[in-house]
Amino acid sequence: MSLDRIVGEPLSPGLECGHLRIVNSPGPILSPLMLVNDTFQEESRLHRHILELTREIEKEKRKLETDGLSTEAEILSVHALMLQDPDVLRPIVELIHNSRQRAEHAVERTLDDLASALSEMPDPVLAERAADIRDLAIRLCARLQQHFEPVIKSDMAGAVVAMHELLPSLVLEARDAGVVGFVVETGTDVAHGAILAKSFGMPVVRIDSLSRLMPYEGAPLAICASGEVLVAPTETEVDVRRFAVDGHRQSIEIDRLGVGLWVSVLTPEQIEKFPWDDVKGVGLYRSEALFLRHQDRLPDEETQVQVYRQLFENAGDREVVFRTLDLGADKKLAHMHFGPEENPSLGLRAHRLFRFHPEILATQIRAVLRAAHGDHRLSLLYPMLESIDAWRFMKGIVASVVQSLIDDGVPFKKDFLQGVLIETPSAVWCVDRFLEEADFLSVGTNDLVQYLFAVERGSVNVAHLYQADHPIVLQVIQHLVAHAASAGKRLSICGEMAADSSMIPVLLGLGVTDLSVPLGVLDTVRGRLGGLDLDSCRTLGQRCLAADGIDALRAEMGTSDSRRVRNGTVAGGTAIDPVCGMVVRVGAAACTMRVGRTQYYFCSRACRERFAADGGSTH
Ligand code: PEP
Ligand code: MG
Repeated sequence: MSLDRIVGEPLSPGLECGHLRIVNSPGPILSPLMLVNDTFQEESRLHRHILELTREIEKEKRKLETDGLSTEAEILSVHALMLQDPDVLRPIVELIHNSRQRAEHAVERTLDDLASALSEMPDPVLAERAADIRDLAIRLCARLQQHFEPVIKSDMAGAVVAMHELLPSLVLEARDAGVVGFVVETGTDVAHGAILAKSFGMPVVRIDSLSRLMPYEGAPLAICASGEVLVAPTETEVDVRRFAVDGHRQSIEIDRLGVGLWVSVLTPEQIEKFPWDDVKGVGLYRSEALFLRHQDRLPDEETQVQVYRQLFENAGDREVVFRTLDLGADKKLAHMHFGPEENPSLGLRAHRLFRFHPEILATQIRAVLRAAHGDHRLSLLYPMLESIDAWRFMKGIVASVVQSLIDDGVPFKKDFLQGVLIETPSAVWCVDRFLEEADFLSVGTNDLVQYLFAVERGSVNVAHLYQADHPIVLQVIQHLVAHAASAGKRLSICGEMAADSSMIPVLLGLGVTDLSVPLGVLDTVRGRLGGLDLDSCRTLGQRCLAADGIDALRAEMGTSDSRRVRNGTVAGGTAIDPVCGMVVRVGAAACTMRVGRTQYYFCSRACRERFAADGGSTH
């Protein structure tokens, strides 16, 4: 039996074991109340350090983007914006000039006030922004004091870290150091730190007080999806809990359901020594991630061959669904222009770029066909195809590459499948035509929902209209499933919807058989599948299909649109106009007003005037 069992609240799912390391969260560095002589020099010292910190944050942001974590990178955009916000900077500068305070003291006081005001906000999402402010205050003060000792140390690989609060910068440091999970004593699952941990597949449990863990520094610890923290657990104890979220029992259940579970990945390293067990293969390799990492030039054929070879070697005898480059929209290259675009989501994306640069695709296809040579199993998946014409264009380039490889006498993979990624309404409309020629279909629900409803994926003020669970989406999926089944071709779902616990039973009920999900949520999806029975799923699926609108469907499923909140909070805004409710960018807000210790932001002068006329009340 374990030495101790503490029951807390899970903030990020998963189960991990590691030795406990307790760290002191970097509290504000209390600066001595020393007065400065030259306040202008002090102000310029402040600006210099803000600039350096902004650069550091921008670097971290680019790293996330190259890993395909653009939504998560937005969190860092918000941090960078906060640092530029005149309403944050002004009081700091005023303190320096009016009270001759040192920059670090002025930063600490101002941001501390701002964090306290935010933490009192009734909206939990806004209240959690206090942690972002604290994070920035600590980082900026550390720089101003030339105090660079990292909180997360390089020897913490494989450890479970216990700390007071999950600050976003610490999660990034911990990920780089190989920390496996966290125990904290404050924060919620909508805090940016928790959102990042979820994206990185790092479980987090919040317990009442870390003092319970103090005697166990260095001891083996298991943190569980149930919210339990087990000190020095036995193997059986861990196994039992693993069964609850993943594992062997579930794989039997998955077989019984006839569901093919696949993983979606960005890099070959993600599947190094991966325990495939019940996982069929890579259901989506987002190949553009490699290109986003090389921001100074396109990776050449040899570089690509090496990376793809690693991918196939790590996949062993499992099938790899290799999505050809999906550049454009929010996935841009610093060294390449995509022309003037009013609306990049509708612009030069995927194959549309290859009309101007067929050689980019040709090089990629040469590289992947060379890398897959041998016993590997390759399926090429073409994104953003709007019609059979786009399919022919892609196939034409692939055919010419095959010919060039034959002509060059280079060994390459000759037998591979070719499939269509259904992401646009026009592709749905002509699915039968695709099915005549394609070997398989995959449904990219992230984009399909965007284009079906004409609602931009990351646009925060219309996020409530991005309704992946709308009956219309379900009807479209059922249409695709029925046509794929009668053509005898495989159809998988590879968008986020495949990993949405509330939608999984509905998808199964509509006849979906293959789901490709990010690695970080694999265990949760297994756990969800494990508890399902197909007949109930079918009944639920039919009821949802027949629902008259989104409210009826959510009532049927007992869900709400709460998962949109996450999108909304990280997609660029840090303040909500208290009059109309619109999310506004703090730095670019049309109008602001301070009431007591709280700064308000408005979309327009009209809203600010109404607010002022109501006496600065948020009701
Ligand atoms: C999708 O659109 O659902 C998809 C899988 O592609 P991405 O999210 O990479 O655009
Ligand atoms: Mg897509």
